[in-house]
Amino acid sequence: MILTLVQHKDGIIDEVSLELLTLAKQLNQKLSTKIASVILGDNTEALSKLLSQKAIDEVITISAPELKTYSPDTYAFALTKLIREKNPKAFLFSHTPLGCDITPKLAASLGAGAIASCNGVEFEGINPIFIRSVYNGKLQAKVALNSTPLLLTVERGAFKKDEETGNAPTTAFACDFSGIKSRYKSLRFYEAQKASVDITKAKIIVSGGRGLGKKENFELIKNLAEILGGEYAASRPVVDNEWTERDRQVGSSGKIVSPNLYIACGISGAIQHMAGMKKSNVIVAINKDSEAPIFSIATYGIVGDLFKVLPVMIEELKKLKN
Ligand SMILES: Cc1cc2nc3c(=O)[nH]c(=O)nc-3n(C[C@H](O)[C@H](O)[C@H](O)COP(=O)(O)OP(=O)(O)OC[C@H]3O[C@@H](n4cnc5c(N)ncnc54)[C@H](O)[C@@H]3O)c2cc1C
Repeated sequence: MILTLVQHKDGIIDEVSLELLTLAKQLNQKLSTKIASVILGDNTEALSKLLSQKAIDEVITISAPELKTYSPDTYAFALTKLIREKNPKAFLFSHTPLGCDITPKLAASLGAGAIASCNGVEFEGINPIFIRSVYNGKLQAKVALNSTPLLLTVERGAFKKDEETGNAPTTAFACDFSGIKSRYKSLRFYEAQKASVDITKAKIIVSGGRGLGKKENFELIKNLAEILGGEYAASRPVVDNEWTERDRQVGSSGKIVSPNLYIACGISGAIQHMAGMKKSNVIVAINKDSEAPIFSIATYGIVGDLFKVLPVMIEELKKLKN
């Protein structure tokens, strides 16, 4: 059996959970087993109905008031029990704060290995070799696990979401939490600081990356965005360096955007960035490195120095406007 953990909030399934199914199906081609999705919560009925419409073999629900909000203690207790009983070949989690929190805990309690931030898989015979980015996406590492279950966290956007429909039966898995005392208590959830701008609605986005070199050069991005009547955005290092506001970060830990036009300037195309913009209709990439991964998804690629390309673009667009 291959298990995937379904993440949800306010009754809505996080799409990354459907991406896990795609990896589960790729693994299943070699492991020839069943695929089941696991939902934890205090009332999982509506979610299990949604999930049962997927082309999987089973939906497993673990419903209890103790699982209303995430607690590593109750979640780990329930999932360890499930793993011990079902003995799955693999258990897939998304590389979200929840997935990153629970996976090592399970690995430690089961004495199993775990791979974090997997973004691809290939096979040596029937043995899966997982691919993950290291050194901030500069290198890809290939990693094999020689323990079971294979415990993985999977990068958001690394796999397409599974669209296949089906009719999966739901099984309730019983868990008695009476002996479990959670050391964690969620006091309240509150919205992060209100965004000054919602770049997810923009039709045109000009986005700047570390290739800009310094904060002052980000003005080029703003100028091009303005003349195109669009919004400006950025990769994570630009935001981390405070060259622009965090609301404008595109990527797996920022905003997921799909404008008609996305112009990526001095952005290498790390998997975490591409996860946030690869659904854009037209992607223009400007990068001086012809091997930059961003070109693999670009509609149009300009191999060149952005400090030469952008001023010309801005000038030409100004002429068109006048
Ligand atoms: C858990 C996690 C979550 C993450 N979430 C995100 C996220 O949400 N969004 C995100 O963007 N990143 C995210 N990252 C970081 C990501 O892995 C990359 O480090 C980041 O996207 C790289 O940003 P960049 O492309 O701007 O910089 P770099 O990778 O340094 O690329 C700079 C590019 O600029 C080019 N360049 C340099 N000078 C010029 C020039 N003069 N003209 C033209 N091109 C030039 C270079 O050739 C290079 O390709 C995350 C990482 C982790 C581990």
